[in-house]
Amino acid sequence: MCGIIGYVGKQQALPILLQGLRDLEYRGYDSAGVAVLNDGRINRVREVGKVEKLEKKIEGKNLPGRVGVAHTRWATHGGVTEFNAHPHVVAGKLAIVHNGIIENYRELKERLVMRGVKFESETDTEVLAQLIYENYDGDLTEAVIKSLLKVRGTYGILVMHADHPDRLVAARLGSPLCIGMSDLEQFVASDITAFTPYTRMVQFLKDGEVATIEQSGFKIVNLKNEAVEKNVMQIDWGKESAQKGGFEHFMLKEIFDQPIVFEDALRGRMDMKEGTAKIGGLNMTEEQMRSVNRVMIIAEGTARYAGLVGKYAFERLANLPTEVDFSSEFRYRDPVVDKSTLVLLLSQSGETADTLMALREAKRKGAIVRGIVNVVGSTIAREAGAGTYIHAGAELAVASTKAYTNMIAVLLLYALQFGRLKHTSLATGQRILQSLLEIPEKMNEILKQNDEIKNVAKQYKKYRNILFMGRGVNYPVALEGALKLKEISYIHCEGFAGGEMKHGPLALVSKDVPVVAILTKNQLYEKMKNSIAEVRARGARTLIIATEQDTEASEVADDIIYVPKTMELLEPLLNTIPLQLFAYHIAVALERDVDRPRNLAKSVTVE
Ligand code: GLU
Repeated sequence: MCGIIGYVGKQQALPILLQGLRDLEYRGYDSAGVAVLNDGRINRVREVGKVEKLEKKIEGKNLPGRVGVAHTRWATHGGVTEFNAHPHVVAGKLAIVHNGIIENYRELKERLVMRGVKFESETDTEVLAQLIYENYDGDLTEAVIKSLLKVRGTYGILVMHADHPDRLVAARLGSPLCIGMSDLEQFVASDITAFTPYTRMVQFLKDGEVATIEQSGFKIVNLKNEAVEKNVMQIDWGKESAQKGGFEHFMLKEIFDQPIVFEDALRGRMDMKEGTAKIGGLNMTEEQMRSVNRVMIIAEGTARYAGLVGKYAFERLANLPTEVDFSSEFRYRDPVVDKSTLVLLLSQSGETADTLMALREAKRKGAIVRGIVNVVGSTIAREAGAGTYIHAGAELAVASTKAYTNMIAVLLLYALQFGRLKHTSLATGQRILQSLLEIPEKMNEILKQNDEIKNVAKQYKKYRNILFMGRGVNYPVALEGALKLKEISYIHCEGFAGGEMKHGPLALVSKDVPVVAILTKNQLYEKMKNSIAEVRARGARTLIIATEQDTEASEVADDIIYVPKTMELLEPLLNTIPLQLFAYHIAVALERDVDRPRNLAKSVTVE
């Protein structure tokens, strides 16, 4: 998500830092800042909004210096304000930039306040800054290690101290950080795109490593201050492929991002003890939450399919009648909403024109509106006034993948938070949270089958029509699988509810029209198996998504892809992934423009 860049070397740091921030812009953020050390003084400039605004603010100012740090922030603790923007500076001596969350910041802060420390911001990051400052006794690396040992949470940090005008200290746990090595200058960044114009020699820091970086080189230790072996690699990616993380397309990278960004959607939003969610942006008292008697989920495209999964969650967990509608339909009909209706507006970009208009309409009618969006500071996020970021990071491929899984994650948390106020038991709540925590590992297991899925996909590229079938929570998965494939391969695809086939769509089935069906082990397993048997009896080739070790599923399968078992409500988080890869590999095999399919745009800002 947010970005870090640091420099120590022979050149003026500022232009390098600003260029780095611009190269990190694609990750999405809400404010930016830079600090440069010169003559024992730290000069800092911060600004809310785009890097361009920061640059304007710096214009005409003198910020010389050959060592510095810079940051683009994605606020987690404390509003989007200049005071909360990084770098945070303590006593004019120490500057820090940080990606991630310090989970125990409250208790650490209380202790610091008791010792008389004054805080300038609301961030968790400043707590870490103060802690390092307090622990400093001439050795910056030692102070950083000592402080990190007291910290729970995730971080990628970069620290600079006025007593060490030639040095940066970097450390990582959970948030990416890498060092770009060159002759007499070193770069540190959250993403190699920030320094690929200068060097391709890269050291990726691992969790629990702390690097002391000087102009001539760097050394790495672990949190016990023991030396760690370096492993500098030469990267031959250009800028765009660096953004693609070495993958051939953004879409493939974004599919593979899912296990990592999924954790970002959950982070800080789970209360295991109470078996519930604690979504900051929901902004409702328990009383207000109890007064909600209906939910409407309004979205378009993939976001609407994520919304359909949300419907099952709200109904099952919170016992709330839930309706899902197209934004473009909602705004032109006479939607019945009132002050007891919770209207959730889903949009990756936060700029979808139809959804924005639907938001205004729902607001006018007095409903409680909340945005669930990816792009921070986007129009829907602002106009909704409250809501939740899905923290999927920049999604650049037109076909949405990781925004879908993260939207489902957030919807499940919403449903659980409402559910725990009335319907859902503590044990069920805890089981859901535990199962959500296990999802990233299970996603990884599916991603490991990429080569097998590619082989299957190649066999389906010759068809002109493909049908997708699912039931229950996997009905939206079928719809999403069909949408993914049609939008990037241009093959005609439709998704159907399994039970609906015999009421019409079965007429389409023949040996030339294969059927992709989701047959995971849940309460509708037998029913679904019957629906598959029906299409097979009409000659259709079947590709089945089945639960691992379910040998029975192969009875109705020509081709089969196995996925790990999870709770039924969470199945779409896993079952969609093989369909994303299936769509991707067919489109590649057909030589389509995977990331920029014809006639489509990433952010649909027109009606
Ligand atoms: N938790 C920190 C903050 O809210 C860092 C956020 C980030 O990763 O940009 O300031």
